[in-house]
Amino acid sequence: MADYTQFLADEAASLALAHQLAAHLQPALTVYLAGDLGAGKTTLTRGLLRALGFDGTVKSPTYTIVESYELDGLKVEHFDLYRFQSPEEWMDAGLDELFDANTIALIEWPQMAEGFVPQADMTIALSVQDEGRLCTITAHHELAQKMLTSCFE
Ligand code: ADP
Ligand code: MG
Repeated sequence: MADYTQFLADEAASLALAHQLAAHLQPALTVYLAGDLGAGKTTLTRGLLRALGFDGTVKSPTYTIVESYELDGLKVEHFDLYRFQSPEEWMDAGLDELFDANTIALIEWPQMAEGFVPQADMTIALSVQDEGRLCTITAHHELAQKMLTSCFE
């Protein structure tokens, strides 16, 4: 399946990409946000939430593990598993219960819960490049690919 790669020169470019994406993401979607500390994963999530109509504060879930957002007919669950000591914490915390047909799940550091965290429908990978970020978006099945095609065509 095709990858979509874009250079995001500054934070505004990341927020703009998030706005573009938000219009095409359908619920019951699990998105992995890949990339090191400071790569811009939470920034992109903030852009998505803004675009989906949330105008409050978007906090990084580094300490809380998950921040939940109730939007118009849609829920967004934003995870940050960086502080997991072991993958089993995913089950211990009952995090599967946050997934349903109305939910878009955005997961930072999914590899910390490997074997327990739901499979991704789509991965957004970010890395530092010069003063900006390189962003590559990959769909993992046909329906997710269709969302990306309509987003970037
Ligand atoms: P992460 O969640 O991956 O740890 P953050 O989203 O918290 O990273 O962002 C870390 C820093 O990177 C923030 O200061 C943010 O403003 C900056 N940043 C985000 N996107 C970009 C970009 N496209 N270009 C330059 N800086 C960016
Ligand atoms: Mg973060």
